[in-house]
Order: sequence, then C-alpha cells, then structure tokens
Amino acid sequence: MHERIDPKDCIFCKIVRGEAPGHVVCEDERTLAFMDIFPVAEGHVLVIPKAHCTNLLDADPTDLEAVIVRARTIARAIRDALAPDGIGTFQLNGAAAGQTVFHYHLHLIPRQSGEKLEIHGRKPGRAERLAELAAQLSSAVAAEEAAGAVS
Ligand code: AMP
Ligand code: ZN
Repeated sequence: MHERIDPKDCIFCKIVRGEAPGHVVCEDERTLAFMDIFPVAEGHVLVIPKAHCTNLLDADPTDLEAVIVRARTIARAIRDALAPDGIGTFQLNGAAAGQTVFHYHLHLIPRQSGEKLEIHGRKPGRAERLAELAAQLSSAVAAEEAAGAVS
C-alpha cells in the first residue's frame, strides 16, 4: 500500500490545477467533484480533496470530513436529478484493493435494482454526455445548497 506518486505527475492533481480536462460538477476550498471518465453508470462522480494524498491511510482528517460532507450534497443532487434506486459510495486503498489512481477519491455510483455490482467501468463515457451530466448535477448541487440541504 505504498503507491506514492509525485503530485506533479498525478492526474487528479492535474485536474485540480487545470492542466488536464475534467467534467467538473462542483468545487469548494478543499474539494473537487468531477465525472468519472470510465463510468459504471450515468452520473458516476468522483469526489477528491484538492490537496494530494494517496488514500484513506494518509488522508488529512479535515479533508476526509470535507469530502464526505460534499459527497452527501452530491448524492442528494444525484437522487434529485437522476432518481436511481440507490447510490453506492466506494473507496479503494492500494493496488491490491483495486485502486488505480493514487490520489484519494470517493466514488458515487448511481445504482439500479438488480444490476450487478461493479466499481470500474468498461468503456469511456462520451465526452458530450459527461459534460451534460456534469452540468445537470452541477445545477442540482446548487439547488441543494440553496435549499440548505440540512434535512
Ligand atoms: P480507483 O480504482 O478507485 O483508483 O478508480 C479510479 C477511477 O478514476 C476510475 O474509475 C477511472 O475511470 C477514473 N479516472 C481515471 N482517470 C480519470 C480522469 N482523467 N478523469 C476522470 N476520471 C478518471
Ligand atoms: Zn494528486
């Protein structure tokens, strides 16, 4: 579980820095959320801390809190915008556990009843569709925030 990488070579840090493209759903001081480019389902979102860490084991506790609270708002937005039967939150630590990008991230995956449980997509999403979904979820997040999203 020592898959440490240099933040300058990290694809998610590059998205944070604007050096690589990302279909961004929302961001705040500590977190960034964007569409997974190999989605398991429509609306598959990744939430990351902007500060680089490898996974749960070395993550800053304040960043972890910020990510899970952000994930709650985004999960509500997914529910409102896409009405899935459920939403999976997944997070993998170490290559042996299936982690492929070594910058901590939480998967939010809309799920339908009876579907096989999968964490990794098999084919890339269409860029235009990912952009549409990012915009739709972005609006739904804004609506959640405006509503206070406490209940
Ligand atoms: P994990 O196996 O939990 O490390 O998952 C990494 C996830 O990152 C996979 O679902 C990939 O499809 C996704 N991913 C990899 N590169 C990018 C990227 N440039 N933009 C968005 N998602 C990505
Ligand atoms: Zn990184």
